[in-house]
Amino acid sequence: MWTNWSGGLQCRPSATVRPLDETGVRAAVQRAARRGVRVRPVGAGLSFSPLAVTDDVLLDLSAMTGLVRVSGDRVRVRAGTTLAALNVALAGRGLALATLADVDTPTVAGAVATGTHGSTGRTGSLSAQVTALRLVQGGGEVVEVGGADLDAARTGLGALGVVTEVELAVVPEIVLRASQARLPLAEVLTPDYLDAHRWAEFSVFPYARPDSAIALARWADEVTDQPDPQSRANTVRTFVERRLVRAAAVGGGVALGRTVPRLVPTINRVATVLTGSGSVTDLAHRVLVAQPVVRWEESEWALPREALADGVCELLAAIKERELDVGFPLEVRVGPAESGWLHPAYGRDTGWVAVHTATGTDPEPLFTLTAEVLGAHAGRPHWGKRHPWTSAQVADAYPRLPDFLAVRDRYDPERVFSNAHLAALLG
Ligand SMILES: Cc1cc2nc3c(=O)[nH]c(=O)nc-3n(C[C@H](O)[C@H](O)[C@H](O)COP(=O)(O)OP(=O)(O)OC[C@H]3O[C@@H](n4cnc5c(N)ncnc54)[C@H](O)[C@@H]3O)c2cc1C
Repeated sequence: MWTNWSGGLQCRPSATVRPLDETGVRAAVQRAARRGVRVRPVGAGLSFSPLAVTDDVLLDLSAMTGLVRVSGDRVRVRAGTTLAALNVALAGRGLALATLADVDTPTVAGAVATGTHGSTGRTGSLSAQVTALRLVQGGGEVVEVGGADLDAARTGLGALGVVTEVELAVVPEIVLRASQARLPLAEVLTPDYLDAHRWAEFSVFPYARPDSAIALARWADEVTDQPDPQSRANTVRTFVERRLVRAAAVGGGVALGRTVPRLVPTINRVATVLTGSGSVTDLAHRVLVAQPVVRWEESEWALPREALADGVCELLAAIKERELDVGFPLEVRVGPAESGWLHPAYGRDTGWVAVHTATGTDPEPLFTLTAEVLGAHAGRPHWGKRHPWTSAQVADAYPRLPDFLAVRDRYDPERVFSNAHLAALLG
């Protein structure tokens, strides 16, 4: 039985294959194609959406790890390498990824396939850092993807083939000073806050105050200081504080809120107050990445930047109007326009809005409301998170979908790399 990170998805593949190298991947794909069964590649299984779910062959890339080579501002890495391992390997060479998600357990190929992004309007997602990919197609052929096809493959959803290696642009090591504080919501919603820093994000609890007017802001800028031991100690403290938001919301909040829903507003206020102010200076991946201490379900939407403030305010108001028991904060981030044809930020500067529910509670009321409110602002869902979209909405929202499907027809004409979810999304 395979289960994703949240525990919300399970499947019983007819076989799970864990190839050690590209030859093993090719053999598994050719064997499946001969037998007329399908193959789904899987990374660390963090996605909340059923992209990897299959009754056929699950191809687990977790044994294909490590650097292939580092050359100038490019690193080539095997597909199953985790972001954590890559961060450490790069730091040892004075290099870093230009973009960091808030978790480092995904694999490089999984993170790239779903357009995993960070909290910066200045640097694109991990998909945007891809300069080349090596991929096994539906017939077992190996292709080095570059040129125009790269904009299909950089957010490929695992629908084009099995990625065996990824080449990424990297930057010199980054030291950041990260800070957090409680700030007025009206202030953090403006470009004056969101665009003023290299990294900037904020969380807001729907019931933090009667008017939801206080946000927990977290931002970071590059500095020339050296990381020092005190900074690392602060990093731990800062992470604990950040986790407290979720832990207070979930540990203290959701369990209690489930049995006594009227306590949710109080829990929201306590979690907001518990998160203190402070700053820390360290290497980017030690400052920006946090290890989650609880599990949840998540839905995240990419809005045109100009719709972000209205979208956030309307969603907060709608949650309160329907009196939904939401123990987690909304998380808000920004990102630049992307070139990946199926990236949710394709062609437009983006504001990301994420909502969460605790594992074991019914996510549908919150996720359906979020899809309604943010979908009305031309929001597009994050592919790795929960969403209700099918092919009609995808066709409307993605002008380059026909080009993506043409690449898919060339790479995987027999649809070896499909499942029910992809069939619903891509037709
Ligand atoms: C705690 C937590 C924090 C998160 N934080 C962020 C965040 O800050 N920003 C963000 O954008 N997202 C975030 N996510 C979402 C996460 O980054 C994505 O879901 C990502 O895809 C996870 O990578 P994975 O290795 O687990 O991929 P999986 O979930 O295993 O797979 C995702 C997709 O990639 C495909 N795939 C995997 N390996 C290959 C391969 N070798 N070849 C072809 N296709 C492949 C799969 O078929 C599937 O379609 C978070 C998720 C969690 C659980």
